[in-house]
Amino acid sequence: MSNSTIANCKRCNKLFKKTISDSCPPCAETENQQYQQMFRMLQNSKSQGGILIDDLSAKVGMPIEIIEEYYFEAKLGTAGLFLKFKCRSCSEVIGEENRKGRYCLSCSNELSDKAGVQVRSRQSIEKAEAEAKEIIQLPSDKQKQEQAARPRPSRRAGFTRNR
Ligand SMILES: [Zn+2]
Ligand SMILES: [Zn+2]
Repeated sequence: MSNSTIANCKRCNKLFKKTISDSCPPCAETENQQYQQMFRMLQNSKSQGGILIDDLSAKVGMPIEIIEEYYFEAKLGTAGLFLKFKCRSCSEVIGEENRKGRYCLSCSNELSDKAGVQVRSRQSIEKAEAEAKEIIQLPSDKQKQEQAARPRPSRRAGFTRNR
């Protein structure tokens, strides 16, 4: 028995004896060629200020998700600098200098502002609820204590509590 496992190729879904690669040998070969081609195109796009991932994907025949994977796993090296995306939120074309993850800087700021507002408002709701509990509970406990401690007016006529 060999220690190799049988797996489905992530590209063509055929069964193959899995080694280091997630792709079967023919697909791994194709992938390697596409990677080389993609890498060269990226480097050549320097003079035009980069290339949009959609165009690169169409020209090389590699799915956008796979190119993104290479990029976000930092497997494109310095050539990754020339890869341009469309912002997931506003579709503006974004390069290395004006993006944060998959968003342009302004959308990224907007998103984090919104997230900040949500956190703040949740905190203020919790605070308001806590205060409401104090207002409702504490006086009633106090009243009970006062009622218990307060002598009956009828028995001690003339006694006033105005402290
Ligand atoms: Zn395959
Ligand atoms: Zn945007």
